[in-house]
Amino acid sequence: MKITMLGTGAALPDPDRGQSAILISTDAGKHYLFDCGEGATRQMVRANINPADVGLVFLTHLHHDHISDFPYFVISSWMLNRTGSPILLGPKGTKNFANHLFEDGAFRADFLARSAYPVRKDNIEAVRPDVREIVPGVVYEDSDIRITALHVDHLPHEICECYGVRVEADGKVVAFSGDTKPCPAMVELARDADLLIHECTFPQSFIDHRAKTGVGTYSHTSPLGLGLIANEARAKSVVATHFGHFDSTSPVLKRAAAKHLPVELMGPHLMEDVVRDIRKNYQGPLRLAHDLMRIDL
Ligand SMILES: [Zn+2]
Repeated sequence: MKITMLGTGAALPDPDRGQSAILISTDAGKHYLFDCGEGATRQMVRANINPADVGLVFLTHLHHDHISDFPYFVISSWMLNRTGSPILLGPKGTKNFANHLFEDGAFRADFLARSAYPVRKDNIEAVRPDVREIVPGVVYEDSDIRITALHVDHLPHEICECYGVRVEADGKVVAFSGDTKPCPAMVELARDADLLIHECTFPQSFIDHRAKTGVGTYSHTSPLGLGLIANEARAKSVVATHFGHFDSTSPVLKRAAAKHLPVELMGPHLMEDVVRDIRKNYQGPLRLAHDLMRIDL
């Protein structure tokens, strides 16, 4: 299988990183998208993949940096001649999210205008996603892939359930954390996985600063925590992702983030700290994700 890291950033607009989105392409040529943050659709085209050929989208949770490109993905796939409904898997609340987007929602005018054309009427199912709210366990299976999802620990459940996944395809296993602090479910999902793709939102210096200033959520995984998870799960290789802009050199981000991030520490050099801290607990193959990074398993 092939994995394309479409977006490797987090919640802020980042000139160098799109928001969370990972595409898994099986040897049989089927494409499965995990998270659909800002930029996901355009990045697919850059990676030479037609969004209309992506049949399934899995949303780990409903934070905007994991879902904001979804309406664009659906409408542009419709225009790119998708046939049939895309499958949308996600936590409780996903139906509400999807039902308020298209013919009965925010993009109703677009839907009405475009569906007036016979050619768009012919594939109108493309803009009617087949939405399935999941419960923990095996959440999807076809001849190419099996997806198992478990609750991870990021947001209070009453706000939104958050999932991590274990994907089995082509005789390989890939686990993806979504957003979470270190949790036993992620160890279970990543058990002996060929590849663990895990969030690594902030380096330790940022976590310490945020703890001191009382800003933001701490429901993320530090590099030290990531190393522990990878080691405990016996993951055969690791890709760290979902970087919270700490490596950015953008003056806009530095000015705007001053209230909740130690901007004087920001810069690409922090990636050295990230690797050093992951390495304290995990010594296997390790890569830091960047947009459009490709991994062949
Ligand atoms: Zn996120």
